[in-house]
Amino acid sequence: MIFLSTLFFVVAGTLLEGLLVKLPILSKCGDANERVGVIHVHTRASDGSGTVAEVMAAAEKANLSFIAITDHNVAMTESDLALDPPDLPIISGVEVGTNAGHFLALGIPPSWVQPKTTDDRTLLAAARAVGAFRILAHPFHPHTPWTDWKTSDFDGMEIWNEDAAWRQNNFFDLMDALLLYGVNNQLALVRLASTPEENFAKWDQLLQQRPVAGICAADTHARIRLAFGKDWRFPGYVPSLEVAREHVLLPPDAGNGNPALASPAELIDALKNGHSYCGLDSLYPADGFSFRISSASSSSGPGDSLHWTGAARIQISTPSGASLPLIKVFRDGREITEEQTRSIDEPITGPGRYRAEVFLRQPGLTGLRRWTLWVFTNPVYVTAQ
Ligand SMILES: [Zn+2]
Ligand SMILES: [Zn+2]
Repeated sequence: MIFLSTLFFVVAGTLLEGLLVKLPILSKCGDANERVGVIHVHTRASDGSGTVAEVMAAAEKANLSFIAITDHNVAMTESDLALDPPDLPIISGVEVGTNAGHFLALGIPPSWVQPKTTDDRTLLAAARAVGAFRILAHPFHPHTPWTDWKTSDFDGMEIWNEDAAWRQNNFFDLMDALLLYGVNNQLALVRLASTPEENFAKWDQLLQQRPVAGICAADTHARIRLAFGKDWRFPGYVPSLEVAREHVLLPPDAGNGNPALASPAELIDALKNGHSYCGLDSLYPADGFSFRISSASSSSGPGDSLHWTGAARIQISTPSGASLPLIKVFRDGREITEEQTRSIDEPITGPGRYRAEVFLRQPGLTGLRRWTLWVFTNPVYVTAQ
């Protein structure tokens, strides 16, 4: 009896929260040089549930500015790629399966045929040969982690992968999210967000050797296989495309002077150079977030270098409509600042790789919700003279 009444109150509380907590509606990013997109999406060409046309309709609904479709071991066709409007380009990608884990290859030619092998070195080299941007996918996934850390023949890694992040939850968290999903799908997916500590630690280690672009990925399938060959479209394409989005920072001359019309090649170039940050926009749109390090003579954003001339300042500003964030700054993997504030403008003391993680409280009725990763940036490289 006590069990049943406790269960009733837990279920009622969850449903009430789902009905009363409103998360922001995501509109198209208004910042002139910033394009917001989602990387790592599956379609029916492999194990996703939707067609390319359905994925594009969902991307429009989620107000994205680009999308990278990456089916397992199968490239997109010319006619699939022709389904994108100029202000919502498709980045042609593939998720390559190897004996060392999965990697994404973005910017591959239409109908690219990968070598018939599972050897990761051969496949990474083949993707490099066609000029692809190669990203290690879900490197700490419980079932398909990346295992070949001896190679450096890749350009980036997924720091946040929705699919891997959700798997870190326990049974009760998953049940809670499933219940919530029916009344507030955006909040349900936000509840499952977790900080990818292993990915950050590995990234910091790799950054000591060379620049590696860090991105967030959706890994959307919109498909859970049920019995009798039936599928459940969970989580749906639209809610999934609203969670973790990569904000690409473009130069003003992109898209022939109109960054809203930047080409897939320009977007890939920016991503590869680390000119981007990740936002868990379902918590609050991170549009316009800024992270820079400035000296007397120059200023650098994510992915760029700055020569150390004896003095420089780190400057971070967050969108004003969000609740009060917690900002952490890391230098060479070591936390140097942790502050609850909307902006930071403070001196740094020397060269290093600087990056930031920003957290917001989970939205909810109690106000006691945990801090949840909201934004992480690619590093600024402050180099010794
Ligand atoms: Zn995968
Ligand atoms: Zn995938």
